[in-house]
Amino acid sequence: MRFRNLTRRREIGANSYLLEAGDHRVVLDVGMHPKQVGYAALPDFGPLAHDSADAIFITHAHHDHIGALPVLQRKQPNTPVIMTEVTGELTSGMLHNSVNVMTKQREEESITEYPLFTHRELDGIRAQWIYRDLDRPFTVPNTNLEATLHDAGHILGSTGVMIREGSNTLFYTGDVNFEPQTICQAADFPTSGIDVLIMETTRGDFSRPEGYSRKGEKERLAALIRDTHEANGALLIPVFALGKTQEVVMMLHELHQEDLIPMMPLYIGGLSTKVTVLYDHYASRSRRSYPGFRLLEDTDLLVPRKNSRKRQEIVASPRSLYALSSGMMTEHTVSNQFAAKFLDNPRNAIAFVGYTDPTSPGYTVRNAKQGEMIKLSRDLAAIPLRARVESFDLSAHGTREQLADYAEKVKPKKLIMVHGEESAQNWFANRFAETIPDTELIRPDTHQPIDLW
Ligand SMILES: [Zn+2]
Ligand SMILES: [Zn+2]
Repeated sequence: MRFRNLTRRREIGANSYLLEAGDHRVVLDVGMHPKQVGYAALPDFGPLAHDSADAIFITHAHHDHIGALPVLQRKQPNTPVIMTEVTGELTSGMLHNSVNVMTKQREEESITEYPLFTHRELDGIRAQWIYRDLDRPFTVPNTNLEATLHDAGHILGSTGVMIREGSNTLFYTGDVNFEPQTICQAADFPTSGIDVLIMETTRGDFSRPEGYSRKGEKERLAALIRDTHEANGALLIPVFALGKTQEVVMMLHELHQEDLIPMMPLYIGGLSTKVTVLYDHYASRSRRSYPGFRLLEDTDLLVPRKNSRKRQEIVASPRSLYALSSGMMTEHTVSNQFAAKFLDNPRNAIAFVGYTDPTSPGYTVRNAKQGEMIKLSRDLAAIPLRARVESFDLSAHGTREQLADYAEKVKPKKLIMVHGEESAQNWFANRFAETIPDTELIRPDTHQPIDLW
């Protein structure tokens, strides 16, 4: 079996990987680059001939793993797409949203190739999607390969993929979290009998401070909320629509139940609501904490959305909580527009709970000094930062130590590092040279064929 990296660079981008076994072709994930636009945001499917793939696996419904799926399915119209049911339903919602975003970008940024696919096309390609349960081995259609999906603990429905050919076994982690979050339980990954491990390396650059605990972070967040309440201000939590929003809503509900925060109305908006509906739909039928708990109905803080057809602008009221996307406060998103009328009030506070790319407005706000002038968007005037800004580590990715421990337990013959920056992968390479010296470490260049067995 051979492996080829279909991403255009070594980084977190349009994640997609190709396996070639004899006449068979299997694709792992079909992402779109979050920072690039147009065709440059797609994986480079070069080595994959039209109508030649036997299966496409999707590990989870984040954009960097599914964004280009309709484009690939157009080239591979007869290929089944295999994933969990939750991932399928989330993928459909996320991709329909993508059509709307691309249509807007076509108008506002003159990207003429957008949208890369349409709502109607999305409805059509679902005919090829097939759903598989966790931990149940199955044969990849029309091949001699056997596969199993294992819970990755990253977002609802997320999996790692095990693929067997004869006596050889490969495991692809996708994005993984080895410790429980509020909703998702910790990953449940196999640790033995793996010859080749394809592993994400997202947090290789990051070391947690001494004494870190998730509980400690939650308590710190509660303290910020209490302070903001007392100051008669409002709190903005910029969040990703899928995963982080639902985590934050559940966490705030928990904090209120534990009497750590006062009763404050909580608002979410836009795509987050659609995704939360799906989280609730699978509340009893997915591996998670609080089974059966429906965020939109059972959280007493959450303010239900009015049934108005018009998209109304969300405006800050004192003593209220706003969990709004996007997590990086990207231009033209709800959190960006909200912040523009919010930042200059010293009573208010902003809590960052996830990754912000150095080129994003969120990163600018997070690293600005008090009083610094902030320009959130090209078409907005700069305003001074007067709100309190704090950051919390509530990542949905495993720490580098947890990932390294996992790889050291697996002791694969070959370890392929993906989904991470060069510097992040250096950390792993240094550690593995000491701890698992017999494992061959591979950092795959675009299209470079790598023989696995
Ligand atoms: Zn992800
Ligand atoms: Zn990812």
